[in-house]
Order: sequence, then structure tokens, then C-alpha cells
Amino acid sequence: MIQDDYPTLDGRPLSPESLMMSYGYDPHLSEGAVKPPIFQTSTFVFRSAEEGKAFFEIAMGERPRGAEPMGLIYSRLNNPNLEILEDRLTLWDRAEACAVFSSGMSAIATTLLYLLNPGDVVVHSEPLYGGTDYLIKRILPRFGIGHAGFRANGQADDIQTALAQPEVAERVALIFVETPANPTNALVDIGACVAAARTLSTPTKRVRVAVDNTFLGPLFQHPLQMGADLVLYSATKFIGGHSDLIAGACLGPADLIDGIKGMRLMLGTMADAHTSWLLLRSLETLKVRMEAQAAGACRIARFLAHHAKVEWVYYPGLLEPSDAGYDIFKKQCLSTGSMVTFNVRAMEGSDGEAEAFRFLNALRLFHLAVSLGGTESLAEHPYTMTHADVALEDRLAMGITPKMVRLSIGLENPDDLIADLEQALRSV
Ligand SMILES: *Cc1c(COP(=O)(O)O)cnc(C)c1O
Repeated sequence: MIQDDYPTLDGRPLSPESLMMSYGYDPHLSEGAVKPPIFQTSTFVFRSAEEGKAFFEIAMGERPRGAEPMGLIYSRLNNPNLEILEDRLTLWDRAEACAVFSSGMSAIATTLLYLLNPGDVVVHSEPLYGGTDYLIKRILPRFGIGHAGFRANGQADDIQTALAQPEVAERVALIFVETPANPTNALVDIGACVAAARTLSTPTKRVRVAVDNTFLGPLFQHPLQMGADLVLYSATKFIGGHSDLIAGACLGPADLIDGIKGMRLMLGTMADAHTSWLLLRSLETLKVRMEAQAAGACRIARFLAHHAKVEWVYYPGLLEPSDAGYDIFKKQCLSTGSMVTFNVRAMEGSDGEAEAFRFLNALRLFHLAVSLGGTESLAEHPYTMTHADVALEDRLAMGITPKMVRLSIGLENPDDLIADLEQALRSV
């Protein structure tokens, strides 16, 4: 469900970037401080026993939520920094509600544990972030939850083929999609997944669609507006944007997010006050950062595409109308993003790892590190690093090979970054 009653100025709806400095915070409740203070406290004082009782009744759903504001109780349940952050994050995706977590993985794990029961099946796109892949394929099966994958950038009916497998159609409870996929930038048609979920839903069982929107969101892709039920983020990446915190988020309709927050309360996977405060700082510059990073990445992708030592570049901005993913890109992405993955050209008889490592070791401005979306540019080797957990045959089937390098483009001058790539490619 899409929220549409955000603040206006003389009838003009205000853009999210205009609201990132003010929405959801009243300075006069905090001595006039223009920025929210960090509410570094575990618990909150009640004015009376009656008030404490009432707050708990609202928190436990025994009194209608919304009629009265839920008072502050304990920082595993709510905290001013967490609540202001959640309100502001809803603006970009026009979501009804948001829950922020201690990491992207805790956002995904808490959401899946809330949505799934023994006997259910998750149908998911591939490749997935390494941690999500491990959770779905190795941990959830211990709780009787099955899985079936379909290839991103595949044929339009791949999802139907996955759903048609024995026992999948009757048992599927969730379609989990990551698009663009980490690390290959392969795309999945969110609208097609929503249509498939609707077809399989019955009056007693709703098949949900959840989208990991870490690579393009919340600026450049809006899955909720395409009919997805939930959108998930590793807020460690672009939303945090400075490589100095770990956090995650899940957004969607208020009833679902309420349930997910109930699970979060019991697992203790919420973000703390300091992390929430850092994320509020980050949200103020999210749009300018993401736009500048994407502009730099476009130039770098074009430079790599014309380099003799580069065999292939995976970047949505280089898709041609005949390529898999082109139509999906046109339909659902608002930018080409700032993740550029490429294969180095390997010598005859080499799998490419030695060449990729020589390149990575020669970089001087790029840092050799996993993670992405920060102000500084990073380079890593998915085959032996972020995706080392993925079963070998799956890695190879998805094109995650030893010659692949993944770049996250930051805010440095693109000409300086190109100079660094140029000198490092000389050593390949
Ligand atoms: C990093 C990442 C995650 C996991 O997030 P953490 O904040 O590291 O727990 C999930 N999905 C994608 C696409 C990611 O890049």
C-alpha cells in the first residue's frame, strides 16, 4: 500500500530530500536543538503507574494503535532516534511504515522468520547476497522451510518454471527478489513476481513479494509502487553511505510492519540510538550522494568497456535493447546505479584469479574491501570474498567466476578513479 498524505507547502507536496532535515522531529521537545540529540538510554520513566500500564496496553495491541501515541518504554521496543529515522525512511518509498534493524541480515532474517512457517517454501531469485543465500539454503531448511530458485536476467517464464516444481505452487508463501542482484547487476522483473504471487494467492493464503532493494533504492527503484509487499535494505550501504555503521530496514504496509516489529522485539534485532542518529545524518545527503556516485559510475563503466584488459562489464547503463534485462531496466529502474562489476581478461589456460588479484593488489585510490555504497570507492573479488559461501556450482552457474571484480563507486573525482583503474589494469 502506498502512502500519499505527506507534508505539503501551499498545496505542493514536498520532496523527500526537502524533508530529510525536519520530518518527524520537533526541536522544541529537545531544548530547541536543531538536530535530534542522541537518546542514549535503555529505558524511559513513566509519569505514573497508570501511564506505564497504558503504554504497555498500546504496545501489546490491547488498545487501538494510532488513537493515542505509543509512549516510550524501553529501547528494544522504541527510541526517539529510531522512530524519527523510521518516519523519514518511509518518505522515499512512500511506504506506510518502516522498521529499522541492527543490520541488513537481521532485517532479512527477522522478516523471513515472521512471514514463514514450517512447510512453507520461499521462491527466490539468484544470485542473492551471500548471507541471504546461506540463510535461505542452509538455515531455514532446519526449520522445515523449503526453497526454489530462479535465475535473474533469465527468461520471462523462469519464475513460472520455479513455481511449477512439485510441491512449490501449493507451499509457496514468499517470493524473495534481489534486483539488481549482487554482484552481477542481473535484473528481475518485480511486476512479473507480483503477478505470479497474486495468481497463487487464495482467500486464506496470501503469497507475499519481498524485494531486497539495496543496490538502487530508495532513490532509484520503488518496488512498493510496483505492487511488492515489502522492500528491504542493507542500510549499511547507500543509506548509511559512509562505511561507518551496520544497519538494515524493512518497509511496507502498517499491519505487516507491525507484525515484523513484534518479531524484532522478541529477537532484539533493532538498531540502537547511536546508529539511528548516524543514519539520520546520512539521509540528509542521500540524494546528492547517490546521484553523484551514479554519474561517476557511468563514466567508469564506459572506460572499462573500452579497455583491452577487460573482457566484460556488468552495468545496467551498458545494456543494449537485445540484452537480457534491458526491458526490465527500462520498466523499473530510474538510474543505472553505482555498482560496476567486470571480468578481467584471463591468460590462455588461467581461470583469471591471478589476473584479478594482480589488479586488486595494484589499486591505490580504490580500497580493497567488501561492502558498497559508501563515499569511498571499493573493489573486491566476489568469488573468494562476498560470495565464497555460495555453493561452487551455483557460483559458476550465475557467472560468479575467478576473473570477476566488483567495484562500488564513491565520491572521488571520476578522472582520478579512472587513472587508478588504468594503472592497475597495466599489471594484469
Ligand atoms: C550487504 C547486503 C546485505 C546484508 O546487509 P548487512 O548490513 O551487511 O547485514 C543484504 N543484501 C544485499 C544486497 C547486500 O548488499
